[in-house]
Amino acid sequence: MKKLLYFLMKNNTFPVFVMTVLAYAFWSLLVMFFHQPEVSPLRFINPLYALLIFLLCLLYKKLDRVLSVSIYAVCIISYSVLLPFVVQMVCGTELYLLCAIPSIFLLTAEYKRPRWFYSAMNLLLFLALAVTVGFRVTHTPPAKLFIAERRLFFMLSHGSAVVVSVVLMIYCGFNTLVMLRHLEYKSRFLQNELDYTAKHDVLTSLMNRHRTAEVFNAYELRKKVENVDFALCIFDIDNFKRINDTYGHDAGDYILKNYSSAIRYSFSEPVKVARWGGEEFLIMYPSITPDTIYELDRVRKRLASEPLVYNGQEIPVTATFGISSSRHFSTASEVLADADRMLLEGKNNGKNRVVVSEKF
Ligand code: GH3
Ligand code: MG
Ligand code: MG
Repeated sequence: MKKLLYFLMKNNTFPVFVMTVLAYAFWSLLVMFFHQPEVSPLRFINPLYALLIFLLCLLYKKLDRVLSVSIYAVCIISYSVLLPFVVQMVCGTELYLLCAIPSIFLLTAEYKRPRWFYSAMNLLLFLALAVTVGFRVTHTPPAKLFIAERRLFFMLSHGSAVVVSVVLMIYCGFNTLVMLRHLEYKSRFLQNELDYTAKHDVLTSLMNRHRTAEVFNAYELRKKVENVDFALCIFDIDNFKRINDTYGHDAGDYILKNYSSAIRYSFSEPVKVARWGGEEFLIMYPSITPDTIYELDRVRKRLASEPLVYNGQEIPVTATFGISSSRHFSTASEVLADADRMLLEGKNNGKNRVVVSEKF
């Protein structure tokens, strides 16, 4: 049951086509059963339309969606308009036409189609409706229709047209709501994903350089308003070019991902880690504790003693860290420039170390 409901929700075209085929089939049986001489042409017309829409049912996945919906629409519209003329009496077909309006919009809702398509559909439906309603006004049903036997026939054919129209309208309306809700969720999901990718690095999932600007602003504001000092540490993986050259670029990526992730999980909130570019990363401390440097050096040492394993090969990885704070600076970029000088100093003095600025 759940599967059937899911199918009906997901496949808009198929259930609408099947309902339409069933309606034509029912009308064919009705005409056959009641032997009405006036409506005898319907013996051929009803099965013909049933067959046409049944073929569409089979082909709709192969045909272009708009083409199959157009054939469907033309079938309903021509049937609704032709029928009163063929049998020379009002058949209630405008009811059936009404249900075509939501069906067509539902069936094409996921597709962005040129405006003329919708305008043409609207115009066609409007004209067809005007013709059939006009016919109803100018052709009052002949008195002989109201003899008992015929009344049953017309009650059944009108009644079924009402039922088919109402069922199709409710189904289409409900399904359109579900689809709109789904599209809304999808666009919200895509928006979130877009926001995430705009702020995070693809390889390491750390926040990217773009996002660090927001963190810097928050730190600067907090220093200005609450006079709380922050610290910035920039680190760069040692001899990374050699790692790439020796083990391959994929191994390099693996090291970047795993080393940076090890650093990230070595610090807890509110300390943040970001990828600054290439094999350079930032550790951002919103405030400073007496243990900040000690903890940083302990993490560096621990990671230097734990080689990363890539494809069964142990790869020792070290990095050099430069750190400074806002005690003697007012902006994050000044702090970062000072930390960067410390990093360079560390690189020039043997790498794999933490160099603390005298202005820390
Ligand atoms: P140092 O110890 O002085 O930092 O030397 P190094 O070899 O680490 O530094 P260098 O700047 O000479 O080389 C950095 C290399 O990092 C060069 C570049 O190809 C590589 N690299 C940058 N981004 C990526 C990346 O996303 N993936 C991989 N695999 N390599 C990268
Ligand atoms: Mg490097
Ligand atoms: Mg570098």
